[in-house]
Amino acid sequence: INAFFQPVQQLVQLYTQYQQAKAAVGKIRTLLHTAPSVRQSPSAVVLPPVAGEIVFDDVTFGYLPSHPVLSHLSLTIAPGETVACVGPTGAGKSTLAKLVTRFYDPQAGHIRIDGHDLRDVTLASLRTQIGVVPQEPFLFAGTLRDNIAFARPGASDEEVWAAVDSVGLRELVERAPEGLDTPLHERGQSVSSGERQLLALARAFLAEPRVVVLDEATSSLDLRSELRVEAALDALLEGRTAILVAHRLSTAMRADRIIVVDDHGIVESGSHAELVRTGGPYAAMFETWASTSGRQG
Ligand code: ADP
Repeated sequence: INAFFQPVQQLVQLYTQYQQAKAAVGKIRTLLHTAPSVRQSPSAVVLPPVAGEIVFDDVTFGYLPSHPVLSHLSLTIAPGETVACVGPTGAGKSTLAKLVTRFYDPQAGHIRIDGHDLRDVTLASLRTQIGVVPQEPFLFAGTLRDNIAFARPGASDEEVWAAVDSVGLRELVERAPEGLDTPLHERGQSVSSGERQLLALARAFLAEPRVVVLDEATSSLDLRSELRVEAALDALLEGRTAILVAHRLSTAMRADRIIVVDDHGIVESGSHAELVRTGGPYAAMFETWASTSGRQG
């Protein structure tokens, strides 16, 4: 009897896994393409391929309009430039990042990408050119390949491997029993926190966005994983416009420009060296960080 039931049971299990994976992909698609508060204008046009200039023009936004999180904020990010946002918790760094992906619309002012107001372009065309790496990257019950390629389901093996290589995960994939076809368990418990972050970066690589918006993970990694994530991040950001919500000053230091967000706006802006020389809030943060982590600037 077992000889008959086991294969059937396996089939049923496989089918259940397939259904779960399908449902997860559906949920993620919905998540990615739905913003809670924004509506696509009926006259929205497809955003043509951009160079990646991002402009905040006198932007005011609050989750409750009576309580602005960001007020009269202006910022121009050049194509290819990496800007890191630092500042106290609750200052509005993630909010700034969410506005770029048009998760919310400002109450006043404009946000433009290559001169196009975000409200004038279709959400789908905007989001294919802006890659988001969230703080807690989601993995779902599917294969490694599904998890890496879900933003581009038609990607070829070569393309998936190229993404895997660019974040240095070849060894992990080759070690997995079925390579790219190895199933991940729900929420990817089988991968470490560092590997999860690298998978999220591989996913962003494969999508080839012009602009990357990254909310850095707060979970602390061992030094080796941290170095691997930093190297993968450097590779991903090469030649792309990037906005990083940086929780580690070691990440912020490597950006072209650092902005300090506080008091509803940008209180300081410049390179690491410039800001340290200025002796303002960033220099104070850096001093504290350097003395507690034993590193030298
Ligand atoms: P940071 O990233 O600098 O820690 P956030 O942008 O997450 O700051 O938050 C800025 C402010 O907006 C905080 O006061 C926070 O409580 C509030 N906030 C963040 N997200 C929401 C939300 N979805 N609804 C209402 N308030 C929010």
